Amino acid sequence: MQIVHYPHPALRFKSVDVQQIDGTLRKVVRKMFDLMYEANGIGLAANQVGLPFRFFIVNLNARPGNEDEELVFINPVLSKRKGDVVGEEGCLSLPGLYGDVQRAETITIEAFDLSGQGFAMDLDDLPARVVQHETDHLDGIMFTDHIKEGEESDQAELELLKFVKNFRDAQADKLFVVDEALQASVQAMADSGKISADFLSTPVHKLTPPEINREE
Ligand SMILES: [Zn+2]
Repeated sequence: MQIVHYPHPALRFKSVDVQQIDGTLRKVVRKMFDLMYEANGIGLAANQVGLPFRFFIVNLNARPGNEDEELVFINPVLSKRKGDVVGEEGCLSLPGLYGDVQRAETITIEAFDLSGQGFAMDLDDLPARVVQHETDHLDGIMFTDHIKEGEESDQAELELLKFVKNFRDAQADKLFVVDEALQASVQAMADSGKISADFLSTPVHKLTPPEINREE
């Protein structure tokens, strides 16, 4: 199990609801926190580890230590979007790439936690931005899709091409199967409604991100 980079097809998959909160899901969530901390991230969606299910994790501190800060959002629903605010975003599936994205300033999120308990949160600032970014992942949307046309968008397009080349090279090296096969296995999991038993032991293939030009 690992964080996959764009353009892995799981990142474009419109995920299905989680139907069962079981031991496998708990193990996957634990591993996702570990992977997220390793990558210094503050949020990680199931799509980003190749899973077609609607859940994501957040820890705004980007490091372990306090389990109260580890939030799990299962089958999240966003509502009451208010205001517009532009801020910079990055993504663990596009390491090194950053861009300005317009998001709702405040938002309400309703979801279930790992014990199956429903909860709601009214969020603003960074937490509001993070849950919008992560919920987008569940719908197959990358933050770069929101970058407004113009110079920044053109720059992002060029950087995305580097990620495409990187991933195609990894497929050519047989580290990943072809897109059709990746798509088929994600679809099969979505159809079955279950995380496959061997998912946690999927071999890891280290992906080295491309060099990104960071213009300040
Ligand atoms: Zn992301």
